[in-house]
Amino acid sequence: MKATVTDACIACGVCADICPDVFEMAGDRAKVIVEEAPTGTENACREAAESCPVDAIELDE
Ligand code: SF4
Repeated sequence: MKATVTDACIACGVCADICPDVFEMAGDRAKVIVEEAPTGTENACREAAESCPVDAIELDE
């Protein structure tokens, strides 16, 4: 699974809280810190995407 954060990100920090293995805050937006979501983090990654208030996380499964 590959995650992408779009320009819609408002830097709320929710994704990094829910799935810190994949998302990290970087200034005024979140960034994805891994090429592929590590095994075992997929569900947290999906939860982060579903919890994003502005739908800024795209997942390529
Ligand atoms: Fe940005 Fe969405 Fe992550 Fe919040 S949850 S930091 S808006 S990508």
